Amino acid sequence: MFFRILHKGNVGDLVTGLAATREIVGPKAKGEDFVFGEITDPSELVLDYPTTILPPKKYFLLPKENLMHYDTKNSGVSQDAPNVTPRVIFGVHPCDINSLLLVDKVFLGDFVDPYYKARRDNTLIIGVSCMPTPSCMCNAFGTGEVNQGFDLFLTDLGDRYFVSCSSVEGADMLDKFVETREVEPQDMKAFQERTKAWEEAFTPAPDITQLPLLFDAKYNDPLWEEIGDDCLSCGACSAVCPTCYCFDVNDRQDADGQGGNRVRTWDSCCFSSFAEVAQGHNFRAQKAARVRYRFYHKQWGYLSKFGKVLCVGCGRCTKACKVNINPRRVIEALVKGGE
Ligand code: SF4
Ligand code: SF4
Repeated sequence: MFFRILHKGNVGDLVTGLAATREIVGPKAKGEDFVFGEITDPSELVLDYPTTILPPKKYFLLPKENLMHYDTKNSGVSQDAPNVTPRVIFGVHPCDINSLLLVDKVFLGDFVDPYYKARRDNTLIIGVSCMPTPSCMCNAFGTGEVNQGFDLFLTDLGDRYFVSCSSVEGADMLDKFVETREVEPQDMKAFQERTKAWEEAFTPAPDITQLPLLFDAKYNDPLWEEIGDDCLSCGACSAVCPTCYCFDVNDRQDADGQGGNRVRTWDSCCFSSFAEVAQGHNFRAQKAARVRYRFYHKQWGYLSKFGKVLCVGCGRCTKACKVNINPRRVIEALVKGGE
């Protein structure tokens, strides 16, 4: 890792230089919100945004993707090659970088998903620092800072960025496209002040140290019925979550009956059909069971397998849920006891 100082006025040079060989994606305004989208002009890029509606996960695990085509006439099957665009994703917050590292453990672990891998291999990540919003909880999960998973990381120091470079590609970007300078003592001082201000801006986080124990001890607690009663089973929390990775696979027949596509789409454990199996039995027919499963898997199930919590505290589900079901409410109910 090495460090440089990049004047904010020079960021456009970096975007323009990279755009010659790669698609540029980054946060941009959409009404009053922000979304990751294609950047065709550096002025579209908004790096001091609160959070985006959807996380950058959508560029690796597509909401809908053809996996293969089948031909019933000739009994043939052809796998669709992953549709890969060389890309740079600009302006990724630490929690979202951490979320990609968590999803990697699933798609690049014991069974490598070629579609996901091809996109990960062809995507450079430029992270950017942020300040917490009221719904942020990365302070609870330790995901507000990163030291891997990016090529460059920009920490906002007002008129300039403190750039952390952690890959050969990142070093190449700086060398080729943009003017930077060495880090000086006043930059280090500004970096430390900025970190302190960031730490002090958070709403205090609930204590999560006892959570695995509490999830097991309170598996049959009435609080799940109370929270589950509210749930609309809409799946919005999963759709916006950077760490949700469940998908469904369906064969979709062409209208002429001569063939079709095997299609992968995002799924949600909150949908009533999620745990339904052949003959109609549903392992989680009740809303309370589904809400409990979602939180149990994120805060304990994934932890027991991979050693980390499957929530980065981005707060997107807090904003998306119309009935106020969110990690803070659930964790506080578990810790304090009852709803
Ligand atoms: S569960 Fe909510 S807070 Fe946690 S990562 Fe998913 S959307 Fe973000
Ligand atoms: S928890 Fe909220 S967002 Fe998630 S399915 Fe239930 S109502 Fe929808």
